[in-house]
Amino acid sequence: MTPLLEVRGLARHYRVRRPGGLWGRTAVLKAVDGVSFAIGRGRTLGLVGESGCGKSTAARLALGLLPATSGDVLFDGQPLSTRQDAAWRASRRKLQLVFQDTLGALDRRLPIGLQIMEPLDIHGIGTRAERLEKTKDLFTAVGLLPHMFDRYPHELSGGQRQRVVLARALVAQPALIACDEPISALDVSIQAQVINLLHDLREQFGVAYLFISHDLRVVRQVSDEVAVMYLGRIVEQGTPDRLFRQPEHPYTRALVSAIPVATPNRARQRIILKGDPPSPVDVPAGCAFHPRCALAGPRCRVETPALRSMPGGHRVACHLAGETAAAA
Ligand code: SF4
Repeated sequence: MTPLLEVRGLARHYRVRRPGGLWGRTAVLKAVDGVSFAIGRGRTLGLVGESGCGKSTAARLALGLLPATSGDVLFDGQPLSTRQDAAWRASRRKLQLVFQDTLGALDRRLPIGLQIMEPLDIHGIGTRAERLEKTKDLFTAVGLLPHMFDRYPHELSGGQRQRVVLARALVAQPALIACDEPISALDVSIQAQVINLLHDLREQFGVAYLFISHDLRVVRQVSDEVAVMYLGRIVEQGTPDRLFRQPEHPYTRALVSAIPVATPNRARQRIILKGDPPSPVDVPAGCAFHPRCALAGPRCRVETPALRSMPGGHRVACHLAGETAAAA
């Protein structure tokens, strides 16, 4: 079956001034470097990794909001246009993006009801009365109260604004929403409400999600599949159950070891990584993770590991894949 969204070998490189460089010396910053994944209809792919690993850039590339340096994006089996033509505008309706900063995403001078209805106006969907009715229906679907229709963004709580942003993304019936850290700025109790809302909306509207977060507990809860990114590449990908129960890549194992457990007497051993992630301008040769990896050997310093398929559809980019889990 054709995936709803498929990205193949996607890369985005920037030429930048080298920090401290003289005479205009430049370098190539590899924000995303050869990422491939697929998302089926009504499915959720979780994308995790440290800040600056390329998650958000990968999402913008996948949605056609940024032109790629190389690679392909297929939406419903067709190449996704990045030129702002009619095909691009049609894909904008089907592919939506939700940000963490809800105040920044909304117009402070416009009532929220009109902001939710705006995509219908832009795409010329239905009559004015039909658009209004659809917007009011969505108000109920995302748990907003009818009397809030004329409120302004600053009059709402963070959780209510996140509901407005989701309603605005949903109103034109998208096939996929990329949620970029959608709950990071919310209180824990509100986070749970928004997670439940995302789940309910998926059931109700059949929308697929590309869910970006650094919170692995949340990603495990919402995802059908999880991809772990490090320095612009996917280093491990699989079902949440397999990836969190038996992580293979040493980086994934370190991330998983940092997840708090509910029963302190069964606490897992925390793996502390050496140093900070290297700059994407100076990606180490061989395996990019080798300066921080306790298992690095001579081969790791010279040869970049490919993302290899393991039994059960699991994929790992490590020369020791298949041995690390056993060693752990
Ligand atoms: Fe560590 Fe080598 Fe595997 Fe990279 S390839 S994660 S350095 S063991």
